[in-house]
Amino acid sequence: MVNRDELNNYCANFLSVSKYKDYCPNGLQVEGSLNINKIVSGVSANLDLIELAVDEKADAIFVHHGIFWNNESNVIVGSKRKKIDLLIKNNINLFAYHLPLDAHSEVGNNVELGRILGIKNMKSVDDSLLWHGDLDTDLMNFTRLIQKELGRVPEIFGRKNNSVNSIAWCTGGAQGFIDKAINLNVDIYLSGEVSERTPAVAKENNLTYISAGHHATERYGVQALCEHLCTKFKLKQQFIEVNNSV
Ligand SMILES: [Zn+2]
Repeated sequence: MVNRDELNNYCANFLSVSKYKDYCPNGLQVEGSLNINKIVSGVSANLDLIELAVDEKADAIFVHHGIFWNNESNVIVGSKRKKIDLLIKNNINLFAYHLPLDAHSEVGNNVELGRILGIKNMKSVDDSLLWHGDLDTDLMNFTRLIQKELGRVPEIFGRKNNSVNSIAWCTGGAQGFIDKAINLNVDIYLSGEVSERTPAVAKENNLTYISAGHHATERYGVQALCEHLCTKFKLKQQFIEVNNSV
């Protein structure tokens, strides 16, 4: 069991939250019970996840995508009201960590995805959200590995050469970093989504672009964070998958 404020402070410190200029609040977003024993984690604080957390009698939910974003209206109506109402009625704390969780070198989305995909010599590029590393495989086997680990068929664009030795990646909707990946001279750039321009940019620059799913690439950081917190504070945790094909 841990005190809510102690947990919030610990995470702020551990994830270096103050270092990031983000477009959402990182940390406690909705206050629930003072003492926390059971935590659940999920990728996004949608209504399905909150309802499942209520069923599990969770004291806290940890997510990568919370419910407050700077570019959204800040009035509490409609589904936002419903979510906040459910959290408050059930005394559930909502903790959200966005960019600090992508970037973290131990439990971050990028490093965790890299581990799952067997990437060696993983490093963040200039301390940014873009990572690079080495592979020793071919495109067909690497695609199969992604499908097996992430449970979805990735979309492949651009260069289809078979042997792959280097990769850059950034989880989520980071297809815009493709221009930075080109400068790194890697064989593959992997992210979660694709834009209209991405296939042509990949082809014209002789790069393989892999779109492996925004949700699918961002399941792992929040789980690693919660496992870390469970060890540290002797809590119980459960990851709840709310299926999302994007
Ligand atoms: Zn995301």
